Amino acid sequence: MNNEKLDVNTTIAILERIKDIIEANKDYLTQLDSAIGDADHGINMNRGFSKAIEKVRNNQYFDIGSIFKDVAMSLMSTVGGAAGPLYGTFFMRASMKLAGHKEADLTLLAQALREGLNGVIALGKAQPGDKTMVDALIPAIDALETAAKEGSSLKDGLAKALAMAEKGMKDTIPLVAKKGRASYLGERSAGHQDPGATSSYLILKAFYEALEN
Ligand code: ADP
Ligand code: MG
Repeated sequence: MNNEKLDVNTTIAILERIKDIIEANKDYLTQLDSAIGDADHGINMNRGFSKAIEKVRNNQYFDIGSIFKDVAMSLMSTVGGAAGPLYGTFFMRASMKLAGHKEADLTLLAQALREGLNGVIALGKAQPGDKTMVDALIPAIDALETAAKEGSSLKDGLAKALAMAEKGMKDTIPLVAKKGRASYLGERSAGHQDPGATSSYLILKAFYEALEN
């Protein structure tokens, strides 16, 4: 496996890892969502990534964009609620940037994930601090871009992104939700970690861990 560039095999290994991590944290994500939502985030995400990996395992790929696209389609068709269309858009927009590429270096990966994030923001209209997945994704992708400019390796860039995603995730705890179901709770949403910020952190963790191996 190539650790310096994201090629087809590495991308599939990342997806396998996302599926495993989401599955292992299914109850945790659902617990977080039961505090400020409707207790389905873990179930939704697990269903989506199980379907996505099933599709990817049964296909042959010549570029990484097509893998991201298949993930996007699977998530959009199987993950209900807010997270399905949002993560679907994230992977779809990223796939457009990666279309036709057999591999991505840190710079291209950062560009693709930035596109994905822009799609999430365009669709969900969440601002930083609204207590959503965006609060983990923004600092992570900022860090990825900075690392790319500094000439970091893919693995080091992802390590920095992961650290920032973790901070962003934890920083959602005191926030009052302004978007999604949790916003119905108003002030009562404070004191709980956002489920979507947590799943975003876990997805980045899978990127990092797949490259570490
Ligand atoms: P639902 O809220 O429809 O049950 P999920 O439980 O699967 O969907 O996902 C909830 C997560 O989706 C939240 O924790 C939050 O991070 C994210 N989310 C909700 N609305 C938005 C939005 N408008 N923009 C970005 N993320 C959002
Ligand atoms: Mg929910």
